[in-house]
Amino acid sequence: MPELPEVETVRRGLEPVLVGNAFARVEQRRPDLRFPLPKRFGERLQGRTVEALDRRAKYLLARLDDGEVLVMHLGMTGRFSIDHANGAVASPGQFAHEQRKVPKHEHVVFHLGDGTAVRYSDTRRFGIMDLVPAKALESHALFKGLGVEPLDDGLSTEWLASKLKGKATSIKAALLDQRLIAGLGNIYVCEALYRAGISPLKLAGSLATKSGMPTKKTETLVEGIKAVLMSAIKAGGSSLRDYRHTDGRLGRFQHRFKVYGREGKPCQRKGCGGTVRRIVQGGRSTFYCPTCQR
Ligand code: ZN
Repeated sequence: MPELPEVETVRRGLEPVLVGNAFARVEQRRPDLRFPLPKRFGERLQGRTVEALDRRAKYLLARLDDGEVLVMHLGMTGRFSIDHANGAVASPGQFAHEQRKVPKHEHVVFHLGDGTAVRYSDTRRFGIMDLVPAKALESHALFKGLGVEPLDDGLSTEWLASKLKGKATSIKAALLDQRLIAGLGNIYVCEALYRAGISPLKLAGSLATKSGMPTKKTETLVEGIKAVLMSAIKAGGSSLRDYRHTDGRLGRFQHRFKVYGREGKPCQRKGCGGTVRRIVQGGRSTFYCPTCQR
């Protein structure tokens, strides 16, 4: 499943293509993905210009000039590819060629005003596309109650300490709670805790003082979360499966995880000498080094 850095990588790949461009025509090849596509989907998009492409948690938000937002989620296997009208992937007009084979899992194609085609394929069809008025976005079922963006200033040491105060769950479970921090998934929670040298088993409340003030651990954790996401975005996203940049070229998806998936291997922290362990917390694998994560 694409995690936040992958989605941000996709956003950065699509942004220069979509923003300022208009939808000339939208091909919709099935009525639904995970949910039914919006009524008159193609018709409502046709002629609309994309004014901005934002991200909220793992959702892409294409803000349209009529006040609606095209909300997109990649689900488990969703991916975009771009046929530039003048690029190597497709020559001008090729996308409209009658003989072109339609890939089995390509479900939506956005044909843009400049001849570019943005193709959405999704083998398992857990992806989501919806059209929501911008004003109704925050109260929409998908976004209501979502926590802070981990890379925004909203995730500060003071804020996190106030939220962790008195919490009797593990810090791993607290960080996976989407109502607290939005878009942080299992892999990056493991990586952030490793980077911060904090045990995933530690009680969340113990990272703050009794009155909800930050401690040194709260500080290193916030730094760890931001640093691990930034470095993954810099590496072009990472994933456990084949992953491509939206512009069609292969991404450097072999982003090296420092702890995730390294069960039984030596800890990479200088001078630690510990061995990475895998345990199961809340039904999800946790990888950590019991020697240096306290
Ligand atoms: Zn270690």
